[in-house]
Amino acid sequence: MVIRTWSSSGREWVLGEVVGSGSEGAVYTVERRPGLVAKLVPLAAEPDVYRLRVESLVRQGREPRTVKLLSGTPSRLAWPLDTLVTSGGVTGYLMRDMRQAFMPFEQLLLPTARRESLPEMTWATALRTAASLAALLADLHAEGYVVGDLKPDNLWADAEGRTGLADIDSLQFTDGRRAFPCRMRSPGYTAPEGIDSDVLPDRSSDSFVLAVLVHQLLMGGLHPFHGRPADGRPYFSLDDNVRNGRCRFTDPDSVVLPKAAPPTDLLPRAIRDLFAQAFGRSGCGTPASRPDAGAWARGLLAESRPGRLTVCDRDDRHVHTVERPWCPWCDQQERGATTWGATDTRPGHSEVIRP
Ligand SMILES: [Zn+2]
Repeated sequence: MVIRTWSSSGREWVLGEVVGSGSEGAVYTVERRPGLVAKLVPLAAEPDVYRLRVESLVRQGREPRTVKLLSGTPSRLAWPLDTLVTSGGVTGYLMRDMRQAFMPFEQLLLPTARRESLPEMTWATALRTAASLAALLADLHAEGYVVGDLKPDNLWADAEGRTGLADIDSLQFTDGRRAFPCRMRSPGYTAPEGIDSDVLPDRSSDSFVLAVLVHQLLMGGLHPFHGRPADGRPYFSLDDNVRNGRCRFTDPDSVVLPKAAPPTDLLPRAIRDLFAQAFGRSGCGTPASRPDAGAWARGLLAESRPGRLTVCDRDDRHVHTVERPWCPWCDQQERGATTWGATDTRPGHSEVIRP
């Protein structure tokens, strides 16, 4: 089945198969334009406001505010290029097809999927990916955009460590005197002040979620608030652990983790300090005290420089910081899990477990 739509200038665009879907809409291929896809949002909470939001983003995509954000190849953002409307009055927009340059970010967080799709990737690529994501967020913040619903589902990555962002229609921003808030929340990717609350996100809540994603990239997918409560209470959710400050990083005695979880001491000291600031008492309780995206970008880039990384003698895909005298990935394999390099096929060997 095809769907006929019309752009703001009246040009017809015919949409084909569904290539992705979310809570409010779906993404479709565009006939005769393989570099483009289209999103239609039939379930917008306020359809008229949604149409104004998309029209505003399309206009801003042609203004100086977005020049830096949209420069470079491949483009980092699936920015709305033009509005679309169906004969039934459903609003949507045209955007670049991120699949042409990137793979879903989620694949980087699943060691088995990553080893299949990117067998040569190492921890050095994970560092570059984290630095690139932090730089992207810093650039968005500098222009007054808050992502609000930052999560792996909205992100893209490639083998070189570049990152991209889709679902631009959910950004929080202002256009003149009009504010377009982001009310989306995703379990496991919400800052403490946003959990079960109507508080709107801001730059510091994005920075909290950035720290979560950086931890996942550098720790083989492990969420920093993963783990069973050590005091015997039942495990409910990552958000419950966030709310109760159960974090292997800032309070190692608060959670029980799989024995093969990557150790925190595989991180350079400067990065450990950033995590402690983001997830500790001040980072959880005082959002403004969290390291911002620029601090993360600078810190991660510094640890990616030549001379800051070394390679293991036993497996050349075991890359780690020079601060650690022996290989953390060999240690992890001895405890029964593989994040990087050749898989150990001995019985009992597994991936790091996620809730
Ligand atoms: Zn090793």
